[in-house]
Amino acid sequence: MTQAILPGSTIGVLGSGQLGRLFAIAARRMGYRVHTFSPDDDTPAGQVSDREIAAPYEDLDAVRAFARDVDVVTFEFENVPGETARAAEEIAPVRPGGDVLHVVQNRIREKTFLSRGGFPVTDFAPIEGEGDVAAALAKIGAPAVVKTARSGYDGKGQAKIESAAEAFSAWEAIGRREAILERFVPFEREISVVVARALDGSMADFGAIENAHSRHILDVSSAPAGVAAAVRKEAVEIGHAIAERLGVVGVLCIEFFVEPGGRLLVNELAPRPHNSGHLTMDACVTSQFEQQLRAVCGLALGSTEYLRPAAMANLLGDLWEDGEPDWPAVCSLPEIKLHLYGKSQARPRRKMGHLTALAPTAGEAREAVLAARRALTRARDDRKRELARETGQEAAPISGTRP
Ligand code: AMP
Repeated sequence: MTQAILPGSTIGVLGSGQLGRLFAIAARRMGYRVHTFSPDDDTPAGQVSDREIAAPYEDLDAVRAFARDVDVVTFEFENVPGETARAAEEIAPVRPGGDVLHVVQNRIREKTFLSRGGFPVTDFAPIEGEGDVAAALAKIGAPAVVKTARSGYDGKGQAKIESAAEAFSAWEAIGRREAILERFVPFEREISVVVARALDGSMADFGAIENAHSRHILDVSSAPAGVAAAVRKEAVEIGHAIAERLGVVGVLCIEFFVEPGGRLLVNELAPRPHNSGHLTMDACVTSQFEQQLRAVCGLALGSTEYLRPAAMANLLGDLWEDGEPDWPAVCSLPEIKLHLYGKSQARPRRKMGHLTALAPTAGEAREAVLAARRALTRARDDRKRELARETGQEAAPISGTRP
């Protein structure tokens, strides 16, 4: 039996974004020390850690030195190079292991792993080079989606193909790189299951969370998902089976499409806490970040019970377009929880923070969190409309806020 890593020990985190920050906060709350490693400094995770190491992932001596100072290494960013994870693994336990990273770092490998395991995925075909585009399209048909095999996220490196004629230009548009062609899924909803798997193989999940995307970026999540109980149960079962088969120690997010009629297709895996699980910080007895900590430290998992249904809305950099959002307005809503990630530069589409609301139903929580997000820009949106009325012009579209 491996010894548990106890409070007072040091956790090393590869990657330094908001996921690392929220993990570090959970870890420090339980009396752990946290060191982060990434190429940048003054990062969201580094700001709340005991030590922030800024070095390239390729600097394997720096990676080994980082691993020597910690009791266990985890990551918040699954695209750390394989050799970085391997260098850390020579010195300290890395959880989840580098083999899990290897599967999920490439969409072709990930979908092949899933379909070989008997898990439902949309039809797909690999595109390794120019010669494969026509064959892939002949197999999948249109409409379809072409995605880069590596390093794509939030819709980056993705293009929809409406007809066969567009296939080649779509592949060119994503940089003529190794890619996957997927059948377009006319889904009814998107849901995710966040599962934690402990070192002893025991598992706990947060049920099915419903996700709405805007411009390919997660916009709003709510729980419980508005799907039939049988769909929810199947999603959770598939999630557990994938976590088991991957041998994950830590948190794994499984994203699904729900087709009309309730058929589930796995879209993507993330072997780490996930944006759709952020609502667990305010809504559950144990958050996804604390589960990650417990799992990588070899401790028992906590209860995932929901205190109330909940919803989370992302705050993207677009909200800063006309200046700082109105924080006092949102703080005047006593039921809303504000989370900001300490990023000094607000760029369009950049995830800057999120809001959470709890309510008697997931629908009411969603309404509340969207109203709170609108409150962040209401005063200036009203001014804009006023000005447009005075000058007789049509108001410019209001960015960052959705109806
Ligand atoms: P991904 O980066 O694979 O998670 O894709 C981001 C988002 O694009 C998904 O959450 C969906 O909203 C959409 N999407 C991706 N793949 C497909 C597909 N095969 N069919 C329909 N929509 C898709």
